[in-house]
Amino acid sequence: SALIAQMMVDPVNLILRWYDELQVAQVSLGRLVGVREIEAGDGDADLRPDGRAVRADEVRFGYREGVDVLHRVSMDVAPGTRLALVGPSGAGKSTLGRLLAGIYAPRAGTVTLGAAELSRMPAERVREHVALVNQEHHVFVGSLRDNLRLARAGSEDAELWAALGAVDADGWARALDEGLDTEVGSGGTALTPAQAQQIALARLVLADPHTLVLDEATSLLDPRAARHLERSLSRVLEGRTVVAIAHRLHTAHDADVIAVVEDGRISELGSHDELVAADGAYAALWRSWHG
Ligand code: ADP
Ligand code: MG
Repeated sequence: SALIAQMMVDPVNLILRWYDELQVAQVSLGRLVGVREIEAGDGDADLRPDGRAVRADEVRFGYREGVDVLHRVSMDVAPGTRLALVGPSGAGKSTLGRLLAGIYAPRAGTVTLGAAELSRMPAERVREHVALVNQEHHVFVGSLRDNLRLARAGSEDAELWAALGAVDADGWARALDEGLDTEVGSGGTALTPAQAQQIALARLVLADPHTLVLDEATSLLDPRAARHLERSLSRVLEGRTVVAIAHRLHTAHDADVIAVVEDGRISELGSHDELVAADGAYAALWRSWHG
């Protein structure tokens, strides 16, 4: 087929196209359920954020007509701040994370980055500033080089090795028979879940967005791999604004600000000490996490 012919001629282009198609698939799925997604803008190409504060103002959002998942959520994340979102499952944390990362646009209200409204920025510009990190889609079919270049097309091998080094992945990567040419993804060299996550982190190093939204999942990693990855991650987070959807005690505890999300609203906002002293939902959650 034409696709296979292209794959033989231009594997990098193919993987990039495939990646685009995955994004499109995600967008169309949103469209099916009546979500207004952020579209690749055309006229707003010079709309640039003039600062780094991420702000949600009276944000309403839902996946289905007439059903709101977020109800007038407002919050301000100052540059360099670490914000943790905690709360019960289904409360809307991941949804809020997707809106703050510009994956979806609000039904009403705004999400802004500096002076720029995310939903009015071209998607590719949004991605230069904010990245969403979750446990999905870490490794695509293609070489290790292709996988890393998804973050920044045209990166030199030296930059790719530096990014791998920054997340402690250069050791195993150098041990691969074909180095950056090694085929990974389904059908290629099998990578461990931890290695796949390191590839995602190395992509972040290459893309270098100033704001990260981390949607932690209850980890599939063994404790040693998890600790190792944690160290790499904390290096990647350094100096960036971070919104972390926290399932673990220390992610929340180490945050500058904690927002408790309950039923699509922010019910508590403050530092760990403040919220423990307030003895509300966070204090209860903290006690349950604490053992
Ligand atoms: P949390 O991350 O706090 O567990 P979510 O943001 O995942 O909460 O979910 C909030 C609500 O939105 C839930 O009722 C969930 O079922 C719904 N929801 C989440 N993602 C989707 C989706 N892609 N399509 C439709 N409904 C969704
Ligand atoms: Mg979630």
